[in-house]
Amino acid sequence: MARTLSAKPVVARMTADSLARASELSREGRQPTLAIIRVGENPDGLSYERGAAKRCAASGVAVESIALPADCSQGDVMDAIARVNADPSVHGCLLLRPLPAGLDEDAACSALDPSKDVDGITSGSLLGVLTGGGGGFPPCTAEACLRILDHYGIGVAGKHVVVVGRSLVVGKPVSMMLQARDATVTMCHSRTRNLPGLCRSADILVVAAGCMRMIGPDCVCSGQVVVDVGINWDDAAGKLAGDVDFDAVEPLVDAITPVPGGVGAVTTAVLVAHVVQAAGRITP
Ligand code: NAD
Repeated sequence: MARTLSAKPVVARMTADSLARASELSREGRQPTLAIIRVGENPDGLSYERGAAKRCAASGVAVESIALPADCSQGDVMDAIARVNADPSVHGCLLLRPLPAGLDEDAACSALDPSKDVDGITSGSLLGVLTGGGGGFPPCTAEACLRILDHYGIGVAGKHVVVVGRSLVVGKPVSMMLQARDATVTMCHSRTRNLPGLCRSADILVVAAGCMRMIGPDCVCSGQVVVDVGINWDDAAGKLAGDVDFDAVEPLVDAITPVPGGVGAVTTAVLVAHVVQAAGRITP
């Protein structure tokens, strides 16, 4: 039976650290504050906003919600971002995506002040991930994968890590961050040949493909650590499921993250930690 790499203790420790630092900063007159910009009423966006607000409250971080109607103009979105950029009391901004059809998401992301980009959506932050420098932050989900490995004492240096998925939100940044820590990374995608064979060759398998239970027993072997980033709604079962077939894979591997209660839960704790860090970077 595999070790379950649960988010619970990771989030508990991160929340305690954020709360301690946020309290310190508040005493110095720098109350860490996150602005959340939401356009429309997308249920996934609303649920993520609720989760982030709850984690902020537990961590001593204030939240300013900016809700725009689904039929707002590009100008309305740009104005909201400009207000956040200009407001010295706001240290980080979460722009909930995807934006409704017709709005230019790239333009909106690029308009955000990189120093307030706590979710790694600007090209400045992504360049920082690539070069190891810069003023922004890595995408929270990519960092959450590493935080889980760190918490459970799973080193990556010298290991072969196979990452399934190459999105800018997860696959690419997590691959870069793993390489920066001396892992040997193979990045796979929808056109990769012999995916099961490559996955079996991994010491650590990170899956972020958005295909429910696509990683089955044929893709794993004993001794592996599996990090499942996928969040899919299983209509038939009426519950969330990952990109990994947990029940079939768990008996075969050494350690595995659950869904829910794995990477997703740590992602909001990383977001909050970034807001606290951003507030700490400001000179009082
Ligand atoms: P995406 O659709 O942007 O990218 C998916 C990637 O997977 C692509 O690079 C594609 O080439 C690859 N892929 C798709 N099908 C594949 C296949 N059959 N074989 C190999 N590669 C394949 O998705 P994303 O935004 O990176 O999200 C991936 C998953 O992670 C989704 O389930 C999403 O819900 C989840 N996610 C979770 C969090 C979190 O906080 N835990 C955050 C973001 C995304």
